[in-house]
Amino acid sequence: MTETRWRLDYPGNEGVRARLADLAQRDHLHPCLLFEGPPGLGKAAAARWLAAVINCAVEGARAPCQRCWSCKRIAEGNHPDVIEVGLDADKAAAIISVKQARDLISSLGLRPFHARRRFVIIDPADAMNGAAANALLKTFEEPPTDTGFVLVTHQPTALLATVRSRTQRVRFGPVAQPVLRAWLAEQGVADPVRIARLSEGCPRRALELDQGEATARAEARNALVLALTTPLEQMFSFSQSLTRGDRAAWTQRVERCLDALDELNRDALRIVSGHVGEDGLYTADLPELAECWAEALDVDGLRRVAEAVVIARADLDRYVNARLLVDNLMMAVATQLGRGRVALAEVVPAG
Ligand SMILES: [Zn+2]
Repeated sequence: MTETRWRLDYPGNEGVRARLADLAQRDHLHPCLLFEGPPGLGKAAAARWLAAVINCAVEGARAPCQRCWSCKRIAEGNHPDVIEVGLDADKAAAIISVKQARDLISSLGLRPFHARRRFVIIDPADAMNGAAANALLKTFEEPPTDTGFVLVTHQPTALLATVRSRTQRVRFGPVAQPVLRAWLAEQGVADPVRIARLSEGCPRRALELDQGEATARAEARNALVLALTTPLEQMFSFSQSLTRGDRAAWTQRVERCLDALDELNRDALRIVSGHVGEDGLYTADLPELAECWAEALDVDGLRRVAEAVVIARADLDRYVNARLLVDNLMMAVATQLGRGRVALAEVVPAG
């Protein structure tokens, strides 16, 4: 199993990092950076990477040497001057609290222990509630000497405008599939093509997928498709089993099913249009399923299923009753599949 938490060396976004290293070496780095980009990209790792570049024992380094005391401590996550602020473990809600903000401000009153430049990484920065963000505004604007902030988020618009305006935005993008595939192969991932595709070009996400989520997703997809091929009564008992338990648990199960439908649809569209290409299918573990899905639904049917998924996601956000939401979805998809359900039943492995 690959350790994902403290990596410094995710692939991709080399241009962005080179620019940051350059600014750092010329001492022109903005005191409060906002790292934004899709979830699972390794943005917090890029913040640690930047902290390592600046504090590396190799003077003028463009990348962490990964051997000096400072680089090692940062990679291990225990450098005294690289402070990470995450969700408040004492709160039920997923927030960064005003207490954390105040603790941070008082710890910044002390001089850095060792570093040329102390770093504070706030991740996910959008979890700062109003009170926490307001408490930190002045510090973001005028950080203590030798201290820089990196705010990390995949939803920058969720930050207060007053926070955003005090930052310099740095945009990270998904990694190109061939680059990610090669990197995943180096990491010993068994099926780099499929994992790269499923991760949408996000390396940290790809490693997580490799560690189990991909299997869970494929199982959820198969169970869903199988349920769609059964009589109405069994279909509804599937949606009942999907939506049992507490909200967090069933939300994850329902989202997995929605993701699976999206992936099947996108694969089927590429098959229909003859554009599978070298990036491969999302459902590469069971390619005949995507073929069968494409045959059962023509382009029009695929569009309708995609619409049903959009409606279900919106319902999920609006706290619509879970059973109702899944029943509606199943009905809509089964109607589109029509007689194609018979062929699907033969493709999907049972249980
Ligand atoms: Zn170093």
